[in-house]
Amino acid sequence: MFKKILIANRGEITVRIIQTCKRMGIQTVAVYSDADARSLHVQEADEAVSLGSSRSSESYLVSEKIIEAAQKTGCQAIHPGYGFLSENAGFCEKVSLSGMVFIGPSSAAIATLGDKIASKALALKSGVPVVPGHIGMLSDLAEAEAVAERIGFPVLLKPAAGGGGKGMRIVSCKEDMGPAFNACREETQKAFGDPQLFIERYISNPRHIEIQILADRYGNVIHLGERECSIQRRYQKIIEETPSPAVDPDLRQKMGAMACNLAREAGYSNAGTVEFILDEDRNMYFLEMNTRLQVEHPVTERVTGLDLVELQLKIAYGEVLALRQEDVSFYGSAIEARICAEDPARNFLPATGMITRYAPPRGRSIRVDSGIVAGSVVSVYYDSLLSKVISWGQTREIARMALIDALNGYHIEGVITNVDFVNLILNHPAFAAAELSTRFIETHFDNDKTKLLPSNERLSLMAIATTLVYHNRQKLIRDSLKPMAAHVGGATKPRDWYHYMVKSEGDIFELRLQGDPDLRNWTIWANGNQYQVVTPELEFYRRRIKLNVNGRYQMFRLQFRGNFIWAAFCGITRVFEVYSPQEWELAQFMPKIQKRVLDNVLECPMPGLVVDIRVQKGDRVYRGQELVIVESMKMESGVASPCDGEVQDILVEKGQAVDTGNILMRFKL
Ligand code: ADP
Ligand code: ADP
Ligand code: MG
Repeated sequence: MFKKILIANRGEITVRIIQTCKRMGIQTVAVYSDADARSLHVQEADEAVSLGSSRSSESYLVSEKIIEAAQKTGCQAIHPGYGFLSENAGFCEKVSLSGMVFIGPSSAAIATLGDKIASKALALKSGVPVVPGHIGMLSDLAEAEAVAERIGFPVLLKPAAGGGGKGMRIVSCKEDMGPAFNACREETQKAFGDPQLFIERYISNPRHIEIQILADRYGNVIHLGERECSIQRRYQKIIEETPSPAVDPDLRQKMGAMACNLAREAGYSNAGTVEFILDEDRNMYFLEMNTRLQVEHPVTERVTGLDLVELQLKIAYGEVLALRQEDVSFYGSAIEARICAEDPARNFLPATGMITRYAPPRGRSIRVDSGIVAGSVVSVYYDSLLSKVISWGQTREIARMALIDALNGYHIEGVITNVDFVNLILNHPAFAAAELSTRFIETHFDNDKTKLLPSNERLSLMAIATTLVYHNRQKLIRDSLKPMAAHVGGATKPRDWYHYMVKSEGDIFELRLQGDPDLRNWTIWANGNQYQVVTPELEFYRRRIKLNVNGRYQMFRLQFRGNFIWAAFCGITRVFEVYSPQEWELAQFMPKIQKRVLDNVLECPMPGLVVDIRVQKGDRVYRGQELVIVESMKMESGVASPCDGEVQDILVEKGQAVDTGNILMRFKL
């Protein structure tokens, strides 16, 4: 086997390739740009070579720099990952000419299959159905219009060199062809340095199904089943799964055989993916072949138990494929969600920033392929993929639930991500029912908002989690102050049930909590429904909390600001306001109380214990007068009146524990 290889990529895929190399005893060399000097892929590799400038066109995309780095460090082969130079036939050829091995197919195969027009022609030749259209380059607008008339609108204009969903335009009538043609040509020239366009019929509501293949250098070709990647935004995948709910063993066999034929016809070796779309009548059409490892390869690994990178390395080294088609079996179901630094509310625009906190989910059925850690900087230079979460289950439904649980616990701070958005998709009834199409997001969402109302059950669970944690935090404060309470007198009597009112957007929840003395087992009534809840060890300072509700573990992400609690669960993100009944009554009088702009209330500035109240109801007070004394951290502090007025209500009593933001008094101005 190779002793040392260079990985010409960055981010999660480089980290993932290094893992397999470590297991196989292969030394790894990473390359990095200035922006990536301190990134995870550099730390994980045995050695790393700087490529300089942060711009990929001056670093990751410069073949010479990469080949030089590999030669200097004594590498025998280069793994290109995906994106960057992975589908660049020129790079592949240069690597071979330099005496090293390119871990992928031959440059001839890349050249043919990388051009969508040439690959469609090849597909036809090998008996694979293609999307009806014009298999050839469009020379000008007039030809585009004529071809579109012939196949019938709507049509899709596509760049021959395309990738990553770039440049495609749907054209629905003749009048729109002019502007679309020019825009598409401009974009493809800019993105790929190649102006060639072609036209296909636009298939409405298709599913994207692709076949993973493996081929060695001796003509042995097998497939590893399909992946469904219908959940896309901007023609780019964000959720992928295998097996596809739309594919039965017959269709799998048929599509697999076609993909293998195409690979044979192209003289293909190594791992590759043949992409198809399936129309509503289950007709399949070849789209393109990707001549590299695919972003979503882990779902295939989960159900086949194979390591695709290991197989790539063995094939590139010249080994004969040890697997025959009948050796490949599929077990269970796997789903992947891509976690990207992007803002679903702003049309999925990429986001940048520094990751300030990072806590990936863990679990037996969960795999996380990640390129980031706390401290990683997400820059403007590269694509927005941060990590991938892959779940496995015996059935699709079990895998779906496992992925939801994982996403509920995925905590990333510092950059905007799509974690909650992909979670919303997974929770959508249409996704659960496997009613998928590439238009899923347009169909079921307005921007980042689902067109469905959030389920009452989920909102109730969120109200329970926020209230319980709020309550236990208050209780911790009270307990820590107990020794003091004794000497002040008037400690609040323990109760066996507690009552809270919770508000979130337009929804109101009435909660009753009844806990055992150690506060771990609870009976909770939320709007009349009863729940049995077990809390974990008292870790209420955490930003994630796992509760056992009615026998099932649920993870919530919470952030506190007094009694305002931001919560995320199953893709729903909301602020919950938790009130004691007295505070609630007050909030009814003054709906704006939440805004914290009123100066006719006395707010507690810190957590502590009320040791003295210096006024009574009806007293006149002046601005700056100390009204309540709160003891905290062994210090007594006076809380001063924000206004001149009359004390209308006193909401606390001596000996009571209070938290930041609690309302102590109300004034009549
Ligand atoms: P996959 O089918 O493996 O998901 P994608 O089309 O999503 O492939 O692309 C994989 C990665 O490579 C993405 O990060 C994408 O941004 C990048 N990529 C693909 N093709 C190109 C290209 N031609 N130019 C730049 N980046 C590309
Ligand atoms: P890329 O190289 O950018 O991945 P593809 O040809 O693989 O381009 O297409 C990407 C996505 O665009 C597909 O998954 C599908 O959602 C959509 N698409 C491509 N061709 C068609 C078509 N003819 N009709 C409808 N949708 C299409
Ligand atoms: Mg594609």
